[in-house]
Amino acid sequence: GEYGHRLQIEGRDEMAQMAEEFNQLTDRLQTTEEVRRRFVSDASHELKTPLASIRLLADSILQNDQIDRDTAREFVSDIGAEADRLTRITEHLLALTRLDSLPAGQTEPVDLSQVADRAVSMLLPVADAAGVTIEKDLKADCVVRSTGDDLYQICFNLIENAVKYNFPGGKVFVSVYRDTDQVLLEVGDTGVGIPEEDLPKIFNRFYRVDKARSRAAGGTGLGLSIARDTVRRHGGWITARPRHPEGTLFTVGFPQYTAQPDRDEEGEG
Ligand code: ADP
Repeated sequence: GEYGHRLQIEGRDEMAQMAEEFNQLTDRLQTTEEVRRRFVSDASHELKTPLASIRLLADSILQNDQIDRDTAREFVSDIGAEADRLTRITEHLLALTRLDSLPAGQTEPVDLSQVADRAVSMLLPVADAAGVTIEKDLKADCVVRSTGDDLYQICFNLIENAVKYNFPGGKVFVSVYRDTDQVLLEVGDTGVGIPEEDLPKIFNRFYRVDKARSRAAGGTGLGLSIARDTVRRHGGWITARPRHPEGTLFTVGFPQYTAQPDRDEEGEG
């Protein structure tokens, strides 16, 4: 392929070692290139689907002279929904590119409980409409070093999913607490659950367990991969596992922020 150049130097000396390192680097570039290509191809596919629907709906209206007003309105409303979908996809794609380039500096202490509370409040109307109850248990002093609205996005994505992939009468549990040197966020639900074999893949870009359900709920298949990238950028981790007797439990761990007056103001002493 593009990075096909390989060095072949036999022996155990420094040159041979450098050749080996060069070849390993080549392999990594090849993989990165493949991942990039795959991503562009998946993203294009995701964009093409709503565009094809819009084209089809527009043609249906244009090519039917006798179309009645109600049908026309319905089609136009569908076109609007597909446009909204394109907006969400592009927003998520942009979020992913920002994740790669955002400088690691510019952080501040943020109270995760307050942020989770804000996300719950924002999603209450959505939960109400779905007949889902949200229970929260948010402890004080759960401070994490973060940038801007990153933590809010993570909370929002997880809680929105817990509502989206739930049943009427179902529940969502949101808790934030400290555990030694970590701050933990748990989002559990009594929803549809995720099959064991899908669990390792749900953080992959565009991966969905149930395409139809995700699509109907306005999903892009990018929410969890954005959440995972953001969590990692904070030095944290995220896992998903089945919740018993039903549903899913997402757990996120962040390094706990503790004020270190001496080391905090680097270079000012
Ligand atoms: P989407 O936009 O499709 O919701 P996400 O990246 O947020 O994309 O999630 C990926 C997939 O993981 C979803 O399509 C869904 O199949 C599954 N999923 C995520 N959260 C939950 C949950 N709380 N319960 C069941 N399935 C979930």
